[in-house]
Amino acid sequence: MPLYEYRCPDCGHRFEVLQRLGEGAEDVTCPSCGRPAPEKQFSTFSSSSTGDGGGFSAGAGCGGGGGFT
Ligand SMILES: [Zn+2]
Repeated sequence: MPLYEYRCPDCGHRFEVLQRLGEGAEDVTCPSCGRPAPEKQFSTFSSSSTGDGGGFSAGAGCGGGGGFT
């Protein structure tokens, strides 16, 4: 079960949610303020990201949820 990271655009709270594949952000609410459908972050597995730079490193064939064929 993949771990997704979300960030609430209202209060800025960041949190991680374990979701099954296919579940969307609409199933998630911010645990801090209760806002539904927060923004999904794609910087998984790396907690050393300072700032919101383009830290999207899509490693080809890097396992994960590549079940879309
Ligand atoms: Zn919030």
